[in-house]
Amino acid sequence: MSYVEQVISSCEEKFPHQVYFLQALREILESLKVEISHNPIYEKYAILERLVVPERSIAFRVPWVDDCGRVRVNQGYRIEFNSALGPYKGGLRFHPSVNEDVIKFLGFEQILKNSLTTLRMGGGKGGSDFDPKGKSENEVMRFCQSFMNELYRHIGDHTDIPAGDIGVGGREVGFLFGQYKRLSNRFDGVLTGKGVEWGGSLVRKEATGYGSVYFAQAMLEAEGKSLEGKVCCVSGSGNVAIYTIEKLYALGAKPVTASDSKGMIYDQEGIDLELLKEIKEVRRASLEEYAQIKKSAIYTSVSEYPQGQNAVWSVPCFAAFPSATQNELNILDAQTLLKNGCQCVSEGANMPCTQEATNLFVDSKICYGPAKAANAGGVATSGLEMMQNASMSIWTFDEVDAKLLKIMRGIFAQIKAVAQEFNDEKNLVLGANIAGFRKVAKAMIDQGVV
Ligand code: NDP
Repeated sequence: MSYVEQVISSCEEKFPHQVYFLQALREILESLKVEISHNPIYEKYAILERLVVPERSIAFRVPWVDDCGRVRVNQGYRIEFNSALGPYKGGLRFHPSVNEDVIKFLGFEQILKNSLTTLRMGGGKGGSDFDPKGKSENEVMRFCQSFMNELYRHIGDHTDIPAGDIGVGGREVGFLFGQYKRLSNRFDGVLTGKGVEWGGSLVRKEATGYGSVYFAQAMLEAEGKSLEGKVCCVSGSGNVAIYTIEKLYALGAKPVTASDSKGMIYDQEGIDLELLKEIKEVRRASLEEYAQIKKSAIYTSVSEYPQGQNAVWSVPCFAAFPSATQNELNILDAQTLLKNGCQCVSEGANMPCTQEATNLFVDSKICYGPAKAANAGGVATSGLEMMQNASMSIWTFDEVDAKLLKIMRGIFAQIKAVAQEFNDEKNLVLGANIAGFRKVAKAMIDQGVV
């Protein structure tokens, strides 16, 4: 059994129930096989055994009181996975599906993603099974304050810097920061995604979606193609999806779909971005309302989706931007997209494609941008927010946007070059995993057995 296979099988034995973590682990380690087999130094220093175990895992109780005076209890997590390249950095997810497995898979991915940005950031992730949906503003605030009552002792601007993710946007980051400040008596850059008036960076809100489109643009340009005038499908209707749609319009493309946990809309005239923002960002309502207002749109609820498929991916498109959640695009969806002529997939969400779908996209040699590269614009701009906080400076929207574009193009060039080294230049999964891994592994070797 090879070194890589030994590490995978030992994790399968130890964590048989961590299905998401094992999925991410297999995807990453399988593509490292060729790199590892040429470099015995990684085995000598037990790099893989150390990489797959978090440096620190914190699980904690989050008690809070709802508006009826009832005491509620949620589970909180922060996994500080790897600090070889810098302080732990990664978002917080508030969603009922959150458990240790979900946070571990996200944290593991984050290590290599942060490495690709070339900024000095280690990997971490956290969150809770708390569901902000249907909760009042005061309930969300009380929950965030209780969550921070434990988290504050583990984080710091040079230790661990959380940000947002599913269910954690500007509102939640504000409540979390307020409580951190109160407990620590410090006003520092301990969280990113802050309001621009009190330490946040311009473009942070837009960064993941913009970055995913910039990445698609870079992949397509390398083949002499462009997004201009092309029909695109986007899933999700949260932070990443909305700003993916915004940037697609800016580049002359026509995004025609959006989705949420209840269903999807197909608007052949192109998604009405202002209406979408009003429904999802302001009113936090269901997408069904979109189709009630905009008559060109067709709404399909999840219960009406074709058996075992996501209806978003049955709409013919030139490029697809999965931007909702993990495993939202399976092998049947991938086959449908390819059959309909899709030539580009850029992953805004984390691990949105199942392993079979990923393999099919790679084998078909379309432009396929894996999440850890394509959605790295969010954390990269968090890194830019940290730089502004540390130097007490404020950069303009255009300055940050230009830096984001440069970073996304840099990531593409970096991972394409590594894929070319292995004579597999279209395989950006291979390129991203190896390019991200090399830097982390080198730093771990340099820093000794810790
Ligand atoms: P949001 O909470 O803003 O939006 C999430 C969207 O996905 C919502 O439309 C939500 O629907 C939908 N969704 C969530 N869970 C499911 C599900 N199980 N089935 C179907 N739809 C679902 O989150 P973000 O936009 O921030 O995050 C989206 C993805 O992007 C995640 O994978 C996240 O990890 C990733 N990402 C985010 C970054 C960021 O900067 N925000 C950075 C890098 C990656 P509903 O409205 O019904 O809840």
